[in-house]
Amino acid sequence: MTNKLISIVVPAYNEQEVITHFHERLAAVMNEMANYRWEVVYVNDGSKDDTLKILHGLRDADEHVAVLNLSRNFGKEIALTAGLDHSSGDAIVVIDADLQDPPELIPTLVERWEEGADVAYAKRKKRDGESAFKKATAHIFYRFMAKIGDVVLPEDTGDFRLLNRKALDALNSVRERHRFMKGLFAWIGFHQVAVEYDRDPRFAGVTKWNYWKLWNLALEGFTSFTTMPLKLATYIGVLTAFGSFVYGLYMIITTLINGNDVAGYPSLVVIVLFLGGIQLMSIGVIGEYLGRIFNETKKRPLYFTNEWVPSRENKTISE
Ligand code: UDP
Ligand code: MG
Repeated sequence: MTNKLISIVVPAYNEQEVITHFHERLAAVMNEMANYRWEVVYVNDGSKDDTLKILHGLRDADEHVAVLNLSRNFGKEIALTAGLDHSSGDAIVVIDADLQDPPELIPTLVERWEEGADVAYAKRKKRDGESAFKKATAHIFYRFMAKIGDVVLPEDTGDFRLLNRKALDALNSVRERHRFMKGLFAWIGFHQVAVEYDRDPRFAGVTKWNYWKLWNLALEGFTSFTTMPLKLATYIGVLTAFGSFVYGLYMIITTLINGNDVAGYPSLVVIVLFLGGIQLMSIGVIGEYLGRIFNETKKRPLYFTNEWVPSRENKTISE
């Protein structure tokens, strides 16, 4: 019997269809691991359905359950952070509520941790129930990030992972508002180990992601971990300026040789429009970064807690 505590953090937004079933499966797995104490921190991220009510019901029935209720919907990344802030385990597992991440993998993650890993992340072998387009875009994103970002993200890896105390404290010290968790998990470093598994399709309910949200998440990833687009604007500017200069020389020479017959109006319009487009694009890129700087400088708290009900399992040690 060790006294190690494992905290499991589960962000939940409108998950009334799955949360009970999720908890059953999780509890079955965790109660099997007799050598550990465990708690699960459910973060209700401003759900509009009965999720919160169900969570309180779960807590009444099971001493391992803690409920953190945020003041509104803050999005998954912030909900996750809130849950991590409120976990006191020696190891912390992050897992989705929709059963796409199988709780049955947790013992393996724990094994890797006991073998000396600071972070054990789950890497999916296949993706069921996801469109070819989503798979393809995800693939391009990872490749692109690996090429231009300062941080190499492990591909086919979600948030499902185990962190030890050391890694979690490091992660918790990062308080930036624009949190691209996948990037931050990789950025903190430490000894990280992959565990492969088959990802299941969502058990019930609907995904909270659409392509617009995914695009914004990708944008968050780029702007949080690379200033490459800012440099790109400079290079495109230099290239077009150089091109225009060469073209200008060519115009002068042909005019000297052939005289000016008021041709060139179309090429003039093309060049003006082209340069205008590039300028607007560059301003847009700067704007993306400027907006993020603006948000960071406000230094607002990341989230507000409506109520925090610790697990009874955890209370017994703190008293
Ligand atoms: N989630 C959340 N806040 C949100 C959106 C999602 O806490 O604003 C939670 C959701 O309840 C689930 C996890 O984040 O536990 C992953 O969400 P989802 O399954 O919709 O994402 P996907 O698996 O499609 O990437
Ligand atoms: Mg999901």
